[in-house]
Amino acid sequence: MPGILRPEVFNIAIIGSGLGGLSAAIALRRQGHQVTIYERYDFGGEVGASLSVASNGSRLLQEWDVDIKSAKPVVLRSLIMHEWDSGEVKSTYDLGDYRTRFGTDYNNFHRIDLHNVLKETAISQSGSGKPCKLEVWHKATSIDAENGVIAFENGNTVTADVIIAADGIRSLSREQIGVVPNIKASTSCCYRCIISADKLRKLGLEEYLNNEAIEFWGGYGISKIVLSPCSDNNVVSCYCFYPAEMNDISEDGWNLSASPQKLVDTFPGLDKKLQTLFLNAEDIKMWRLYNHDPYPYWVQGRVALLGDAAHPMVPDQSQGACMAIEDAGALGIVFSDKYSNLSVNERLRLYEKTRKDRATRVQSASARARTDLSERIGWSSSKDRPGKLTIEEICGYNMHEHIAQLASQ
Ligand SMILES: Cc1cc2nc3c(=O)[nH]c(=O)nc-3n(C[C@H](O)[C@H](O)[C@H](O)COP(=O)(O)OP(=O)(O)OC[C@H]3O[C@@H](n4cnc5c(N)ncnc54)[C@H](O)[C@@H]3O)c2cc1C
Repeated sequence: MPGILRPEVFNIAIIGSGLGGLSAAIALRRQGHQVTIYERYDFGGEVGASLSVASNGSRLLQEWDVDIKSAKPVVLRSLIMHEWDSGEVKSTYDLGDYRTRFGTDYNNFHRIDLHNVLKETAISQSGSGKPCKLEVWHKATSIDAENGVIAFENGNTVTADVIIAADGIRSLSREQIGVVPNIKASTSCCYRCIISADKLRKLGLEEYLNNEAIEFWGGYGISKIVLSPCSDNNVVSCYCFYPAEMNDISEDGWNLSASPQKLVDTFPGLDKKLQTLFLNAEDIKMWRLYNHDPYPYWVQGRVALLGDAAHPMVPDQSQGACMAIEDAGALGIVFSDKYSNLSVNERLRLYEKTRKDRATRVQSASARARTDLSERIGWSSSKDRPGKLTIEEICGYNMHEHIAQLASQ
C-alpha cells in the first residue's frame, strides 16, 4: 500500500548453536528477521555443569519471552566463602533485594536445560517473529564477508544479508575475517563434576542443595572450588580450578574424563565434606583454560563475531555466557526498526561499538579474578579498589540507552 513503510526483513545466517548463537537467533527473530542457524554437529555440545546468569543476561531472556522457569533455575540469594580446610563459613555476600534493584533474579541453570529451552524458543512455531531454521551437520569452512557467502564442509553454500559468527572459542570464522588470535594457555585448569540430590542426601550433604548460593573455597592463588545447585535443586555442580602443571592429561577439549580419586588428590587438605562429595561425584571432566588478548575488531563487511568467538574469557566472573547474551541483545536492538536509517555494515559497527569495550573490560576483570577472588563482582567494592568491576556496572546496565547514546553520536 502506498505510504506505508514495511519493516526491513533481513536474511540472517548464524554460525554455531551454542548459548550465544541461539540467543542471537531469538533476539533477531523477535525483530521479524528470517534467521537460519548452522551447526556443525547435531547438538551433543552442552555439558553437565551449572551456568549462573546474572541479571544482565536474565533480563534479556525475560525481554525475549524465554520461559525461564522451564529451564529449572535455582534463584541465587548469596555468595558464601568457606575456609579451605575446615569448610567453616568465612563470609557471606547477601544479594539482598537483587530482583528489586536489577529487575530479574540471579538464575543458576544446568547448562543443558538452558540450551534446550533456548533452542526450543528459537525454532518454536509459537512466540513472536518467524521461527528460526536450524541446519545441523553444517560446518562452516569459509566465508566471503563482503558478499555474505558461507561455504560448508558438506558442499552446501548459502548467501545471507548478515552473518553472525557464534562458533565459539576455537572460531574458524574469526580467521576468515582476518582476526588472528594471540592465545596463551592459562596456568590454571578446571575439573567440573556434578552430583545428584539423592546422592547428596544419602551422604548427609544436603546443605549444598539448600543454600541458594554460589559457594567458594580458596580463590586466592590458582586453586578454587566453586559449588552451586541447579536444575530445580536436583543437581549440585562443582568447578574445581587447579595448577595446569598438575595435569597428566595432554589432550584438549571439554569432554576428558577424570576419576574421583584424581579429583580428591588434586586438592590435598581440602574440606573433608567436599572430599566426600568428590569421591561420589558423577561425570567428572577436565577443562583446559586459555587467555586471549582482545581482538582488534569484530566486524567485517556483513560478518560480526559474537560470544566466545569475539571475547573468550576465563570463567571467574561467571560472565562469558552473559556477555554472549548481551551481544545477542545488542544485535536485536541495532537490527530493530529504530535503526532502519543505518545500512547493514553501519548497524554491525554500532553493535561492535556497543559491545567491545564492555566485553573487554569483563574479559580482563575475569583474568584478574582467576587468582584473586576479591576481584569477582560481589566481593569487595569499587570504593576499596578503584576501577574494579562492580555488580552495579554489570547488573544495572541499560543497553537500550547505551546504544541510543552511541547512535546519536
Ligand atoms: C568452567 C567454565 C564455567 C563457566 N561458567 C559460566 C557461568 O557461570 N556463567 C556464564 O555466563 N558463563 C560461564 N562460562 C562461559 C560460557 O560457558 C561461554 O562463554 C559460553 O558458553 C559461550 O557460548 P558461545 O555460544 O559463544 O560458544 P559455544 O558454546 O562454544 O558454542 C559454539 C557453537 O558453534 C559450533 N561450531 C563451532 N565451529 C563451527 C563451524 N565451523 N560451523 C558450524 N558450527 C560451529 C559448536 O559446535 C557450538 O555448538 C563458563 C565457562 C567455563 C569454561
